[in-house]
Amino acid sequence: MTDPAARAAALLHLHHGGLEPGDPLRAPIGLSTMFHLPGDPAGLRGYGRGDNATWDAAEAALAHLEDAPSVLFPSGMAAITAGLMAMLKAGDRLILPSDGYYTTRLLTERVLERFGVEVEMRPTARMAEGGFDGVSLVMLETPSNPGLDLCDIAGIAAEVHAAGGRVICDNTTMTPLGQRPLDLGADVVVASDTKAPNGHSDVLAGHVATRDGELLERVRDWRKISGAIPGPMEAWLLLRGLETLEVRLSRMWATAEAVAAALAGHPKVERLVYPTRPDHPQADLAARQMSSGGTLIGLTLADGETATRFITGCPYLASATSFGGVHSSAERRARWGDEVPGGFVRLSIGCEPEAALMPALIEALDRA
Ligand SMILES: *Cc1c(COP(=O)(O)O)cnc(C)c1O
Repeated sequence: MTDPAARAAALLHLHHGGLEPGDPLRAPIGLSTMFHLPGDPAGLRGYGRGDNATWDAAEAALAHLEDAPSVLFPSGMAAITAGLMAMLKAGDRLILPSDGYYTTRLLTERVLERFGVEVEMRPTARMAEGGFDGVSLVMLETPSNPGLDLCDIAGIAAEVHAAGGRVICDNTTMTPLGQRPLDLGADVVVASDTKAPNGHSDVLAGHVATRDGELLERVRDWRKISGAIPGPMEAWLLLRGLETLEVRLSRMWATAEAVAAALAGHPKVERLVYPTRPDHPQADLAARQMSSGGTLIGLTLADGETATRFITGCPYLASATSFGGVHSSAERRARWGDEVPGGFVRLSIGCEPEAALMPALIEALDRA
């Protein structure tokens, strides 16, 4: 199914096929860790670390969105760990974005290198520069966070495949509705569903999606053996969140684009980065591989104090890390040691009506 509208519509009716008269319309929250198993257990649910009906329902929704089998994990990092463990072995070379998600870099430095994986870091904007011979795996994260630099997924995947390697893409910032790395040639997608897919800032979750059957089995095996399994309640909440992802993202993307356009000209804003704006150095690539500019905007104000006054002075901005919630939020990334100016703010646009959010943002900037 390639029509985005049809995909979004069908998601809301996924669970309805195969219901018997009188069955509940909603997927169950399956809490049982044990199953009734008299005689031959082959093909039946066996034990809660490996089998759960609520995971199945959430995974069916994720697989529908990704157009690829998907495995649910208790966090984005658990999904990233599973993807990397399925694709790497001792002696392999891995290229990782140096401006990618911080904890992924920690995972490679503190854990994977100890197991004999050789790690090379390079910035997202220079990821396409080649040198893929002898590289087993290239990890992409586009747009990067918080810099919002891009890299060409299709171009890099073609070059890496020609050199005999594989590509894994962290698609958290865009979700499968905004960018489709598997269709562009990536072998595996990993994502944190803690962000927009759950969307209400109350569940940690993540998933791995791949059309490669062997890798898929390895990922499932990793979850069962490592025990990094999601809770049924969290899986159910994620499923509920996924059903409104399309409606939330349409609102959030449209507002983010309008906010980026309006704030770019504000006298307090020294620099504004948003992937689909014409002044973004990779705007053409954004138009090719993303269906929207996303929900994140990078804003540079004069200094840290000005940035803090802006964030705390706007009633519709939660001062919080993370992004993708129904509420807009913002933070100064320098407080975490990111290599950005002290006045750099990562703005995550939520679902507030633009007519209320826009004037509040502008007023907070005026007074900052
Ligand atoms: C948040 C995030 C993660 C980690 O996800 P958790 O659910 O917090 O474990 C990974 N990659 C990106 C790009 C993220 O934004």
